[in-house]
Amino acid sequence: MFSHETALKRGNWVKLICGASNEDLTSITDLCAIYAAAGVHCIDVAADVAVVSAARKGLKWVEAKFGQKPWLMISVSDGTDIHFRKASFDPQICPKECSKPCIKVCPTNAIHENNGIVKDLCYGCGRCLPACPLQLIKETNNILEIKDFGNVISQTKPDAVEIHTAPGRIKTFESCLQSILQSKVKLKRIAVSCGLEAHGINKYQLSKELWSRHDCLRRYKQKPIWQLDGRPMSGDIGIGTSRAAISLLLKMRSIAPPGPLQLAGGTNEQTIQHLNSDNGLAGIAFGGIARKLIQPFLIEAKAKNKALTEWPEGWDQALKIAKRLVNPWLNNQNSMNY
Ligand code: SF4
Ligand code: SF4
Repeated sequence: MFSHETALKRGNWVKLICGASNEDLTSITDLCAIYAAAGVHCIDVAADVAVVSAARKGLKWVEAKFGQKPWLMISVSDGTDIHFRKASFDPQICPKECSKPCIKVCPTNAIHENNGIVKDLCYGCGRCLPACPLQLIKETNNILEIKDFGNVISQTKPDAVEIHTAPGRIKTFESCLQSILQSKVKLKRIAVSCGLEAHGINKYQLSKELWSRHDCLRRYKQKPIWQLDGRPMSGDIGIGTSRAAISLLLKMRSIAPPGPLQLAGGTNEQTIQHLNSDNGLAGIAFGGIARKLIQPFLIEAKAKNKALTEWPEGWDQALKIAKRLVNPWLNNQNSMNY
């Protein structure tokens, strides 16, 4: 495996988008572990303390066993489109005689006898909601506000951060960056994620938006990665999505600001076959497809009441499949010049 920065230069960079928060934490740990062992350079997770801890658990396991250490990246948005579900209730109104089934079902021990739910430990799995016979537990959307980014970065200490941006949001992009940098955590890269679809803009407008982010990052002495989102969601893996991702690259590569260009959104096993060798790409991110390939093993491990890392046969098979997705990129012969 090339080092992270070398991979960006050689066009071999591979990132796993692990993403959403409302999932089983064991699955997040396993998914991160499998792709870290398969050789990805970066794992991108939601900006949620519980999710980051689960990801780190998988990464530590892989580092101890295989010596691989991908960057941990956390994703934030300069808009209001990152939502995390959290559960909450007021313990003062619980009847004293309640046997507290909510505490027993919570996989992260987020529910404490007298204090209710500890927000940082809750990752919104929803198990406690039906467990309460009095339906006292409610779910709320927990919007991570820009002013809180620095705090989350201080707590999670990622290697890199990704800012999801959209046209017309340069002012909030800068506020977002300021909040992130308040943490004083030294970041190796700041990825900027944006695409054309869903925004109704053309390639020149997108280029202008990215150049304004470039100027902003330079002012704050930060190094970028430009993540071009072929499709707005990384989970979009249907037929034709690969073409959408590549078409965006072809439109943008000569008019994007300097720095590594990385594809995401709609990327899958076919993406590499549609690219010429001098494609100008620094790398790729896999989201939905990476999870889909490993999901049967995650489900089977769960049925065995084990983590995938504790089930050697399942681990070996899942790792082979993950490598099949990742290896063509790790072995890609392509040289960047940015
Ligand atoms: S069981 Fe409830 S408190 Fe525990 S993580 Fe799931 S949603 Fe949060
Ligand atoms: S199950 Fe419901 S009533 Fe009982 S302690 Fe939990 S939230 Fe309170």
